[in-house]
Amino acid sequence: MHTIDHIYINGQFVTPHGEEMFDLINPTTGQPDGRVRLGDVEDARRAIAAAKAAFPAFSRTSKAERGAILQRLHDAVLARAGDSAIAQVEEYGGPVNTSSARSRYTAAMFLDVKKVMEEHAFVKTVNTAKVVLEPVGVVGIITPWNSSAWFIANKVATAIAAGCTVVVKPSELSARQNQILTECFHAAQLPPGVVNIVNGRGDVVGAELSAHPDVNKISFTGSTAVGKSIARLGVDTMKRVTLELGGKSANIILDDADFEKSIPAAVQACFMNNGQACISGSRLLVPEHKLEQVKQLVKAAVATIKVGDPHHPDNTLGPLVNQKQFERVQRYIQIGIDEGAELIAGGVGKPEGLESGYFVQPTVFMNVTNNMTIAREEIFGAVLSIISYKTEPQAIEIANDTPYGLQAYISSTNLERANRVARELIAGRVHINGIHDDLIAPFGGFKQSGIGREFGPYGLDSYLEPKAILGTEAQYPR
Ligand code: NAD
Repeated sequence: MHTIDHIYINGQFVTPHGEEMFDLINPTTGQPDGRVRLGDVEDARRAIAAAKAAFPAFSRTSKAERGAILQRLHDAVLARAGDSAIAQVEEYGGPVNTSSARSRYTAAMFLDVKKVMEEHAFVKTVNTAKVVLEPVGVVGIITPWNSSAWFIANKVATAIAAGCTVVVKPSELSARQNQILTECFHAAQLPPGVVNIVNGRGDVVGAELSAHPDVNKISFTGSTAVGKSIARLGVDTMKRVTLELGGKSANIILDDADFEKSIPAAVQACFMNNGQACISGSRLLVPEHKLEQVKQLVKAAVATIKVGDPHHPDNTLGPLVNQKQFERVQRYIQIGIDEGAELIAGGVGKPEGLESGYFVQPTVFMNVTNNMTIAREEIFGAVLSIISYKTEPQAIEIANDTPYGLQAYISSTNLERANRVARELIAGRVHINGIHDDLIAPFGGFKQSGIGREFGPYGLDSYLEPKAILGTEAQYPR
């Protein structure tokens, strides 16, 4: 049993003022695995005060000083990558292979951000003005559970690169991953108050960060509904917001694609992270005349998926994070059936032999129309909807007919054609022929998938305010 009963304020592990104990359940077994003591509004305020006090000195540090901190953070996070991977497996059911890879690139990202910072011009000339990019101030960071350590690390690294100080409110469902990361931050000997971490409920600690006048910016990753409430709360103090929200990404298989490759890849693009990924390609758009071939290829791809204990390297689909998420996904599968979609794999109920955890059968629907609930709403579980189209313009129209705009995928043997279609899609990222890793290119959503971009220079700019200084060379204006 893991007991997490401290939060991190001003460089010290302290007992929270809040007294609520929250149970941590292992989703593979459905059994209690630990408890976390949650902070309250008082704790949030103490953390904000520490970040505010640390800001004046930290905002004046040099690139070299912040670069040294990012290097130490990389070293500390890499040293605990194994522990972090196991925490992901046991805390939310992340398959061990992907959890291990993610833990390593979580560490590597501190060096990516360091490089971006070193190459970034913090002072520029624009027409007659000297433009100085200054850190925005105290940043509130609010993150979800589905890849907790990675989201926190990315946001904290970029804030530090900019010279900001932060208060992090992680998901209450990821206390173990978060505890390991906090220990890494402590081991990296950051100046006190630069990074503060308060476990707590969203509507308590998260809401306080979103409303507090001493917080200048919120960087949030999570659901669209909560993102909207944060933006509403923040507007009274004119907070800057970066919102990374939900998605319902289209995966367009053009008629000239290599179906033998692109269909298994499309199944994987939907079921990654047990389907609990904002970038999941959950709408598969295929040419109508290829439907029968697609059906056979999808069935064959699903048959190779091993559902089970995520500790085991052969298992590629683990459980969902908790009972609530399990029930939500079951409800969507039933809605798909009730609305008349054709179930070609999976269905309601747990896979045989896996009744104790929150396991879902990998589920695929055909003959889905884009107005069905399962095609419009983010399910956040291993449920794929196949939608057919007649022409390329119709495929583009269906892909764009969604309130979301986070990501899109295209498969084609004609790169020129794929690039042309990519230009037509309303999405923050478009992947051609597979999923490509790039943690420096901008990431974020159009429409209700969010506001702003993360990663690389675009991400760094979102933690900076431009100040134009005029008359630096002229004696007096004419
Ligand atoms: P969530 O929105 O329920 O919670 C996210 C965080 O917000 C948690 O820390 C939660 O405690 C906090 N929160 C909840 N209510 C709040 C409030 N009133 N004020 C302030 N904070 C509050 O999301 P989740 O269930 O943890 O994660 C799944 C969602 O996250 C999905 O919609 C998914 O698409 C989205 N997501 C988006 C991205 C992206 O980069 N675009 C990445 C991962 C997940």
